[in-house]
Amino acid sequence: MQESDYLQAGKIASEVREMVRVKDWIGKTVYEICEEIENEIIKRGAKCAFPVNTSINEIAAHYTAEPNDTLTVKDTDLIKIDLGAQINGYIADTAVTVCYDPEFDGLVQAAEDALANAMSMVKVGVKASDIGRTIETTIKQMGYKPIANLSGHSLEQYTIHAGKSIPNIWSIGGFSLSENTAYACEPFVTTGDGGGFVRNGQIKNIFAINSRKKTKNENADKLLDFIWENFNMLPFALRWITKSWDEKEARETLDFLVKKKAVQAYPVLVEVNEQRVAQAEHTFIPNLNGATITTRA
Ligand code: MN
Ligand code: MN
Repeated sequence: MQESDYLQAGKIASEVREMVRVKDWIGKTVYEICEEIENEIIKRGAKCAFPVNTSINEIAAHYTAEPNDTLTVKDTDLIKIDLGAQINGYIADTAVTVCYDPEFDGLVQAAEDALANAMSMVKVGVKASDIGRTIETTIKQMGYKPIANLSGHSLEQYTIHAGKSIPNIWSIGGFSLSENTAYACEPFVTTGDGGGFVRNGQIKNIFAINSRKKTKNENADKLLDFIWENFNMLPFALRWITKSWDEKEARETLDFLVKKKAVQAYPVLVEVNEQRVAQAEHTFIPNLNGATITTRA
């Protein structure tokens, strides 16, 4: 584990997140938002660990802008901005919810409080199921519902979801936090009318490489090499390819790679009752006394 790289990525990600938190995004397109935030990460000397996610209202996660996406933030929207910085593949994963409707301020606060309470209990040996219980209890006491089928995760070099899950509800079993391992904790909260679950939506605009096996299609193999060289195993967006490829050709070739299962396409995740969802997220490395929260402001 490269602690200095984790810390550097965390510092950059948290600086950018705090910029995102206070900025007025109303009237901006999600394309402008993603590009601006990604440029802030790059300007500070990191790479993006994944495309900035701009998931609005009932979309809980995994929406990123299409090339020139015109979807525009309205003055009643609640938008979850999830961003990742990486240094040599060591990732900081963090998120903030920006809310322009005071009716949903409590929802955002519940996600923040659940995360703060989780961060105050993490250390080596703490059970993930107990973190889930704290998150669930905090959210329910405030009159909201946790999203049961979204969770935090362990991180490894060039791997965002490295196998271990930190639940947002109490659950039987699970693992205990280890030393020298990075984890992301990310409570998702919906309203009392929400189902407390997400389902896959139709839109898929985040991708990641599955296999580097040649497809015998020259163009597809060229794109596969480009993806591997630029993004490794990490997620990417079509926007990131069309900076050096023709858009129509890139889209068709990417579709082909998805059909060949060389590339995985991730659907957006939507609250089952189409209720609004808030999120907060930190990356942390537990120690014997507590944890280094790499994305602490
Ligand atoms: Mn995230
Ligand atoms: Mn995460």
